[in-house]
Amino acid sequence: MYTKIVNLNKDDIEADKALKEAGELIQKGKLVVFPTETVYGLGANAEDGKAVTKIFEAKGRPQDNPLIIHVADFEDVDKYAKNISESAKRLMQEFWPGPMTLILEKKSIISDVTSAGLTSVGVRMPSSRIARKLIRYSGVPIAAPSANISGRPSPTDIQRCIEDLNGKVDYIIGGENCEFGLESTIIDCTVNPVCILRPGAITLEMVRKVENNAYIDPAIMKKSTTEFKPKAPGMKYKHYAPKADVKIISGDLKKTIEKINEIVQNYIDDNKKVGIMATDETKDKYKNASVISLGSRNDIYTIGKNLFETLREFDDQKVDVILSEAFSEEGFGVAIMNRLNKSAGFDIINV
Ligand code: AMP
Ligand code: MG
Repeated sequence: MYTKIVNLNKDDIEADKALKEAGELIQKGKLVVFPTETVYGLGANAEDGKAVTKIFEAKGRPQDNPLIIHVADFEDVDKYAKNISESAKRLMQEFWPGPMTLILEKKSIISDVTSAGLTSVGVRMPSSRIARKLIRYSGVPIAAPSANISGRPSPTDIQRCIEDLNGKVDYIIGGENCEFGLESTIIDCTVNPVCILRPGAITLEMVRKVENNAYIDPAIMKKSTTEFKPKAPGMKYKHYAPKADVKIISGDLKKTIEKINEIVQNYIDDNKKVGIMATDETKDKYKNASVISLGSRNDIYTIGKNLFETLREFDDQKVDVILSEAFSEEGFGVAIMNRLNKSAGFDIINV
């Protein structure tokens, strides 16, 4: 399949033309990759089961993993969801547009393919100007998972979307930096109190300012899916994984550095190439490995933003193993550690 690729500059007339063209393609049942403030999305008309099926095929995504729909305006929510609770309305008022998805009761206009047969649907209003323009031009709700081959780290850069999806989609639009770099916070609003199914940039603390009994689904930070069944079907799948093995070294920072250097030496003895995910504070303390800093430990948002791209960069370098420092599980750190734990398959060494 021929894939048209454009990289948009903000505010230019050309950009508007391209978004109009892409919006029309979505309306006609085609696939369009576009940037958002979380990660790049692979979009199709959420009302059109045939179009949505193509998303699952292009990504190699399991059919039982439902998609999130994206809307541009508050008025649109009522068209696709019903029995919207007061809690959900308060959350929308507070955090939309932005990196938050609400699970709501689905209206039948949304294809069952989009919701993977569930009676609920995830709805998000992105803050990305490109994304919202595209949605408005398409005139339909856009179902969009991350624009990567299923299982791989989500793309936060147009090049990564091209790597994974060129030839499998109709249009790839680039242009905006993904401000957060991790997928949206998912909140189940079909239950009371509301429950966070996936941590993201809208943190538990932020949600609790609006809904003080909100809690995080205990299943999401656990390895075993037999003991704890995650309520978001997608959270049971292997995710965010680069080709190299990922190991997390967790505990006191000084001991972490010592342990990582010790493990590196073992791998070197085995003729293995090692990548280290470090931070500005530690990056000069490692030897005999390819070291990339995610950013300063004082700036957890930059660390989140760089996480997926760094995992992919290590794949480009063809390292055999990636050793990562751990981060404190508070605020946005919960989301970072959730993605990191999954990319490592919960291979954690405590020091
Ligand atoms: P992704 O498209 O990769 O961002 O993943 C979307 C996530 O939202 C997956 O973990 C899905 O299982 C979850 N999700 C989507 N719709 C629903 C729903 N109706 N109920 C619960 N989880 C959902
Ligand atoms: Mg994804």
